[in-house]
Amino acid sequence: MKTASENQPGYFGEFGGQYVPDLLKPVLQELEQAYSSISKDAAFFQELRAYLTDYVGRPSPLYFARGLSAKLGGAKIYLKREDLNHTGAHKINNAIGQILLARKMGKKRVIAETGAGQHGVATATAAAMFNMGCTIFMGAADIQRQMLNVFRMRMLGAEVVSVDQGTRTLTDAVDAALNFWVKNMVDTYYLIGSAVGPHPFPAIVCDFQAIIGHEARYQILEKTGRLPEYIVACVGGGSNALGIFTSFLGDATVQLIGVEAGGAGLETDRHAATLTLGKPAVLHGSRTYVLQDEQGEVIPVHSISAGLDYPSVGPEISALKDAGRVKFVVATDAEALEAFQLLCKTEGIIPALETAHALAEVTKLAPQLSTQDLIIVNLSGRGDKDVDQVAETLGVKLGLSPAGRFA
Ligand SMILES: *Cc1c(COP(=O)(O)O)cnc(C)c1O
Repeated sequence: MKTASENQPGYFGEFGGQYVPDLLKPVLQELEQAYSSISKDAAFFQELRAYLTDYVGRPSPLYFARGLSAKLGGAKIYLKREDLNHTGAHKINNAIGQILLARKMGKKRVIAETGAGQHGVATATAAAMFNMGCTIFMGAADIQRQMLNVFRMRMLGAEVVSVDQGTRTLTDAVDAALNFWVKNMVDTYYLIGSAVGPHPFPAIVCDFQAIIGHEARYQILEKTGRLPEYIVACVGGGSNALGIFTSFLGDATVQLIGVEAGGAGLETDRHAATLTLGKPAVLHGSRTYVLQDEQGEVIPVHSISAGLDYPSVGPEISALKDAGRVKFVVATDAEALEAFQLLCKTEGIIPALETAHALAEVTKLAPQLSTQDLIIVNLSGRGDKDVDQVAETLGVKLGLSPAGRFA
């Protein structure tokens, strides 16, 4: 295995790289070449822009959350409304971008991993629209927990493959997707869902999500005439966080905060606080922070939100941590649940449980600031998908059983 060096392409500081079986190297090289050629192709980006406008509904609004700001009694809080995108989250930005790339490369089928099913739904949606074959790998345990999304993917024409290895969750789904890809490289494109994996995936995903911050920057300047003091985003693999942070990395006055899943608390073994408690290692093709035990084995993670339930993060996020450019904090399940309810009541917006972690940090931060200060929160997704789980956790009876819904 080669050692990481800052000068190698595909590295962010000491993180990143391409730690894959030799068999996969040619297909990653093909991808790298295709991506570098479309990067200079104005027609490609014009086409992408047209789909993002007419199909996804971009630009997503930057909304002043008057009720939430008043309730917290400090900074003015703006929400970047990725929840209003078609399919209800930021993931569609990347799915559309990569499927256009796959089509340019002449691929006939896309495959993807999914945890909660959100990336699977975004991929199946894009595949349906572009009339491409679609196979989604999903852990058997996740399939049980997220039946509605499995049903959605199947309605959209995708095949959902149940992965029975290991913990039967997202990490095992990634392994299964990579294995399948090795055997079917010629006609298949692997549409990865976050800024993770071997080079060039982290860079590609970050580029396709950068539109979030690009829009947020001109929107906040247009609305307030200045840049915000803080930008807050939740971190699973890191794609929505990088998406909004990238346009502000050069603005020293803008403080960037990433919020990880604290689960049942950092003192327990039930959390997904990779950056806070993990160590650098190689996982899923790149060197990055990974949650591991003393023997270096990846440890099972827990979060109330399936989208943050991943024992690693993308390499660029790891580099931003070590560079000190982004501060990473933790919100527990309980704090996320509180913030979830607060946004519902103060703004009439049901956020995704992932997003509620970012909002939990805002409930701590905003009251310490003045009403002159501005915070932008990346509202990465809507929470309709989480309502059953929240009701169950809070002990509220909705008069629906998850199974009864399909009966
Ligand atoms: C998947 C997901 C996330 C976490 O993924 P990132 O790559 O870290 O953005 C966050 N919010 C929502 C709504 C998601 O669906």
